Amino acid sequence: MIRDDILALLRVPPETKVRLKDYDSGWAQTEEMKELGKDVIKDRAQEILAENLADLAAVQELLYADNRYAVLMVFQAMDAAGKDGAIKHVMSGVNPQGCQVFSFKKPSDEELDHNFLWRYMKALPERGRIGIFNRSYYEDVLVVKVHPELVERQRLTEDDQGKKFWKRRYEDINAFERHLVRNGTVVLKFFLHVSKEEQRRRFLERLERPEKHWKFSTADLHERGFWKEYVKAYEDALSATSTKWAPWYIVPADHKWITRAVVADVVTSAIRGLDLKYPELNEEQVQAINAAREQLNQE
Ligand code: AMP
Ligand code: MG
Repeated sequence: MIRDDILALLRVPPETKVRLKDYDSGWAQTEEMKELGKDVIKDRAQEILAENLADLAAVQELLYADNRYAVLMVFQAMDAAGKDGAIKHVMSGVNPQGCQVFSFKKPSDEELDHNFLWRYMKALPERGRIGIFNRSYYEDVLVVKVHPELVERQRLTEDDQGKKFWKRRYEDINAFERHLVRNGTVVLKFFLHVSKEEQRRRFLERLERPEKHWKFSTADLHERGFWKEYVKAYEDALSATSTKWAPWYIVPADHKWITRAVVADVVTSAIRGLDLKYPELNEEQVQAINAAREQLNQE
């Protein structure tokens, strides 16, 4: 398990102004970690990931049997920060029947004809399941904020589009998440924090390796040109929507092994912290089990 004091550094406290440059995207999060050195930290991260993957498989079974809580994991990041890889690795040991992944792209005409949360509501995990949002309703205060012309496509009323537009969106998101939490969904939000230099390296790698070409899109390079605007939009969103009930984690993402260890640890601990139990049988069910056993034994 990752020590609480280290996780606390990554968790955004409610109502604080986030500056991303205060968060390190590398492996040395503390002086102590720096002294231990990269090789030791990497070994430790890999151990933590392995331990958590085994535990996650077990607690997920219990989550499913208990059938009262759902878990929603929200992933947001700049391009090439490793969302897909983190999802793939962290969920690798989980029973696929207990887990659902949704990736959100540009909204369709039908989606634009509804309120901005509609398409995400339809994809929420049911009780007993882990739901993963690869991008989410946060795009509506990120890419849409960086490219305000996207707001026009949403065909909003005049009244809706005043000065308080973004503030209201944050409020709506907070209220939506509080509603989910009150109804038994644990909401965990991960911002995978990659540096601009590491993104450059990963884009180049995509260009150099034919099997990675499919992952490259010129649109990604275009968005990289808006890096500063995205940083600002992320800072605003993280500051406004890290709440007691649905906190953000700023996960260092320049090294995939640290990202995966953190995500696995946060989700496993969150599920372990729930009061999960196997459903208790009533007297009638116990009698039915005893009768069935007797019948089969006598055959
Ligand atoms: P990818 O994750 O590479 O498949 O890209 C998905 C694209 O869809 C990204 O460029 C996102 O910014 C974009 N996208 C996702 N959600 C929205 C949204 N609500 N409004 C506009 N664009 C979005
Ligand atoms: Mg992409």
